[in-house]
Amino acid sequence: MDKTIEKIVSLSKRRGFIFQSSDIYGGFSAVYDYGPLGIELKNNISQLWWKDMTQVHENIVGLDSGILMHPKIWEASGHADAFNDPLVDCKQCKSRYRADEFLGENLAINWNDTQCPKCGTTGNLTEPRNFNLMFKTHVGPIEETGAEAFLRPETAQGIYVNYQLIQGAMRLKIPFGIAQIGKAFRNEIVARNFIFRTREFEQMEMQYFVKPGTDNMIMNKWKEKRFQFYLDILDINKEKLRYSKHGKDELAHYAKDAWDIEYHFPFGWSEVEGIHNRTDYDLKQHEKFSGKNLSYFDQPNNERFLPYIIETSAGLNRMLLTVLTDAYWEDDANNRVVMKLHPRLAPIKAVICPLTKKDGLPEKAREIMEILKPNFKVIYDMQGSIGKRYYRQDEAGTPFGITVDHQSLDDNTVTLRHRDTQKQDRISIEKISHIIENNIKNY
Ligand code: ATP
Repeated sequence: MDKTIEKIVSLSKRRGFIFQSSDIYGGFSAVYDYGPLGIELKNNISQLWWKDMTQVHENIVGLDSGILMHPKIWEASGHADAFNDPLVDCKQCKSRYRADEFLGENLAINWNDTQCPKCGTTGNLTEPRNFNLMFKTHVGPIEETGAEAFLRPETAQGIYVNYQLIQGAMRLKIPFGIAQIGKAFRNEIVARNFIFRTREFEQMEMQYFVKPGTDNMIMNKWKEKRFQFYLDILDINKEKLRYSKHGKDELAHYAKDAWDIEYHFPFGWSEVEGIHNRTDYDLKQHEKFSGKNLSYFDQPNNERFLPYIIETSAGLNRMLLTVLTDAYWEDDANNRVVMKLHPRLAPIKAVICPLTKKDGLPEKAREIMEILKPNFKVIYDMQGSIGKRYYRQDEAGTPFGITVDHQSLDDNTVTLRHRDTQKQDRISIEKISHIIENNIKNY
């Protein structure tokens, strides 16, 4: 099976997972809209992450901070200076590239002798120039420098600047964590590969505050835990996942140690999540720029220190692309495409189909909808042959198909079809909720 990104883009549009932004205006590049199935899937993924962080770990609490923050935060964090990617423009065709994207780290190259990958001319590329990736805006009615603000390029800083308030309010003792899900914006120059790299995206970040000296050990624990999340919770194929350690020259300005969790996408191995040891860099910087003491008081040991921070930072959209790519399956033997999503992730858990439009079957099917609706996201489908209805739901990743036939009226049973095997069981309507729940659990 040739699993290309084009096939995933096309299925996503056809079934209502993901659309290009502003489609009727010809599209708006590097922004995507999540359709009815996309939003369900995105919510399922983010809720599982949230639960895994804040419910399973008693010492991790949540936060929802603003997208707009005091502009000094970005000076302190280093983003105002360092959040740059060297860029190269083609004077001929006006294409713009991230220099490191097609030339590796070797920027000492002679750009005059380099060919433009798009128009193929040589001698038209400019020297790499720095470009700040933060989106700038103005707060208040007057556009002046004093009212300048930025859309946050990462959610992490909102956590750092609130950490003492949260620690005090919740009486947290080190080690503890703060988790946040929210939008981040980067004016990416080379935005590509569908939702992999976009200008507006969502991050799911957890910042874990630890005592210096314990940071290496705790970093290793989080590395393992986060990898396991992809296997146990998202049900991703193990062979398609790996770690990649950042070399010394690749480390971000704030990091002492950094690892990526990578997935093998159709366009190659690429980062889905980063686990970073940010040391006390950020808190030190915020102390310097705000003039506030941000140290933590360790009462039992009667000592004060600036905590080190271990960060787990994942892109929700990239995680969703990982899930979609991994689930995509062309079942050639049966001439169908199946999104083999784990039922816990599936946007719709079951489709309920009356076999025909008459003889009281639609009414019986509606009764089943009423039983299941309070507990599961289910849909009712009466259009087309039963085979077509099932195949539509196979592409949507719906794990169960429930069909009401004439026998249902006699003995109060229905058929339950399993998406992956197409096997069908006859089950009692009375037990239907319980059976669906068990099938999701034991998939
Ligand atoms: P990359 O090298 O791919 O640009 P990064 O190392 O800059 O990513 P981080 O700053 O560590 O990424 O951000 C953490 C996570 O946020 C990434 O692992 C990724 O999942 C997500 N992310 C970052 N930039 C984007 C983007 N432009 N579009 C979608 N997700 C993104």
